[in-house]
Amino acid sequence: MAANLTLEIKMQSPFRVGSGLGFAWKLDHLAVRDARGLPYIPGSTLKGLLRHACQRLALTLARDSYGKICQTMEHVRPCLPGEEPCIICRLFGSRFREGSLKFGDALLSPAEAERLLQERLAAPRPPGTGPGESRTQVKLSRIRRVAEPELLFCGEVLPEGLTFIAKVKGELDACGEELLRNGARLLTHLGAQKNRGLGYCRVSVSRP
Ligand SMILES: [Zn+2]
Repeated sequence: MAANLTLEIKMQSPFRVGSGLGFAWKLDHLAVRDARGLPYIPGSTLKGLLRHACQRLALTLARDSYGKICQTMEHVRPCLPGEEPCIICRLFGSRFREGSLKFGDALLSPAEAERLLQERLAAPRPPGTGPGESRTQVKLSRIRRVAEPELLFCGEVLPEGLTFIAKVKGELDACGEELLRNGARLLTHLGAQKNRGLGYCRVSVSRP
């Protein structure tokens, strides 16, 4: 059955945005920026997060519902070409096969993108102040004595309340859709620094 789903990520605390340029601290930063400097979450990142959440769910709470899941303690090797894939490989793919689901990038709605751009215009931010300000980057730049603008750009902490929307398309049966919906609910934060209250979110899947 062809699915055309909407994935909504509502940020419930401030969160950090990365540059996507491959700096060492990039792993903390699951969102990156588009050409206008607006944050988005790449589809490949979403897919990885959901794959992990769905696998965890299928291995624990819904253990009897989904049968064998590969690359676990019990089934160490991946599902091979020519084999019937486990539900995780079927939905998300593996190095041997393409998954049935395609994840678009999660973008701010046009209204929220506009709001963020306006807020920035209204409040140009000297380092260490203002909405959307970096918490660690200022410190980093002091240590490293490197140019401020680029560092500030990649460590910005965005205000809470932003909502990102992604399209998820592909073949999905009822069983797969249920796993995806419940897996999405397991994603309660994006990125590291949870202990500092950053990056809490609520993720839901719906049919438009
Ligand atoms: Zn598998």
